[in-house]
Amino acid sequence: MQRIPTFSKGGVHPDDRKVYSRSAAIERLPMPSELIVALSQHLGAPAKALKAKGDTVMKGEKIGEASGFISSDVHSPVSGSIKEIRKVTLANSVQCDAFVIVPDEVQPADPEETVDWQSLDGSELLSSIKDMGIVGMGGATFPAHVKFSIPKDKKVDSFVVNGVECEPYLTADYRIMLEKGEQALEGAMIVAKIVKAERVIVGVEMNKPDCIDHLKEIVKEKGYPIEIVGLKMKYPQGDEKQLLKAILNREIPSGKLPLDVGAVVSNIGTCNAIYEAIVLKKSLYERVISVTGECIANPKNVLAPVGTKMSDLLDFCGGFSKEPEKLISGGPMMGFSFFDTETPMTKGSSGLLALGAQKKYRSTACLNCGRCVAACPIALMPAKLYRYISNGEYEEAMNTSLMDCKECGCCAYVCPAHLPLVHTMKTGKKLGRKKK
Ligand code: SF4
Ligand code: SF4
Repeated sequence: MQRIPTFSKGGVHPDDRKVYSRSAAIERLPMPSELIVALSQHLGAPAKALKAKGDTVMKGEKIGEASGFISSDVHSPVSGSIKEIRKVTLANSVQCDAFVIVPDEVQPADPEETVDWQSLDGSELLSSIKDMGIVGMGGATFPAHVKFSIPKDKKVDSFVVNGVECEPYLTADYRIMLEKGEQALEGAMIVAKIVKAERVIVGVEMNKPDCIDHLKEIVKEKGYPIEIVGLKMKYPQGDEKQLLKAILNREIPSGKLPLDVGAVVSNIGTCNAIYEAIVLKKSLYERVISVTGECIANPKNVLAPVGTKMSDLLDFCGGFSKEPEKLISGGPMMGFSFFDTETPMTKGSSGLLALGAQKKYRSTACLNCGRCVAACPIALMPAKLYRYISNGEYEEAMNTSLMDCKECGCCAYVCPAHLPLVHTMKTGKKLGRKKK
């Protein structure tokens, strides 16, 4: 029997819980009465405000300018006026300035004219991706134009597309593959041209057999030189390291990037956004977000403007069917808990989860069982790192590869002592960096 590809070290198999929203076709959110568009929606320096209180803005207009090498432009999702600029705290605890925009009653239609991307060269395509504010939409929000700028001394042979969506509950990428698969694959071809990759491979986990079949049909019909690879279900396969191991059998050494092993990785939702940016000339001002979980009355996959308040998404999905114990932005393994439903979604918001009562466990002392070591996909020693950090021995933790920790949560997921391992790793990294 043929082995289904996956990564080799560690990983876990949480129940995928995609049943709540997987059959919900993407629906557009009715225009909210107010949007809160943050200037820090990407990894790196916040964008610099280009507008002031009282200014009018056009849909798709640049309102924030990238302020450093790793930064990204921000665009207005609507035509309207800026009511104020205020400080906000995002779901990931980042604090930044945000435009509060009141949309006009009538919004302009999306332009119908399309651009023939084949006639553009790699540097023209790259510059459009920068101008349209494209960032990684799987959650990392790394500016795409930086990722696709390949240094002269590096060569890329493979462009790997992440269609894995291995976090439980989330179905936004699943619906994009089913409903916008043609666009997303064309977006992948655009990226392949920019990075000069000979191979394009899309990895999709086997719990999405309909996506695998659908993407294969598109590839056949369009004649794209793209391979669609079904992967065994295993978390965190969507991480670049694990995905490259699963698909190309390449290991990224500690502190290195996919580029160092001849590959570039990008999310399928990002490929769709790239298609829209290049072909439809649409800046990244809206995205698909899964609003789901046991406590959502009508779970949906919603196409919503960036800056939409979580409360507007919840209302659109019928509110809570029962009182949630936890609200999470993103997936349950790597997402961020938040309380304030006025928090705005950003370019990286893949999910809004309302989860029911969780079993309560009391932490005990470490049992030295070694399960965390077996589960760690990076082959770290979580129990040892936990001990160092808890004792304030940050230097020792840093010398034991703490910075390689992906905060994936596999160690905490399997720990029978219910120790707050990921939380401790995050704190250890922060304090360890300060001590250096
Ligand atoms: S959170 Fe860090 S230490 Fe724990 S399993 Fe993931 S990578 Fe390993
Ligand atoms: S899984 Fe938990 S109890 Fe077991 S060794 Fe790791 S930290 Fe200790």
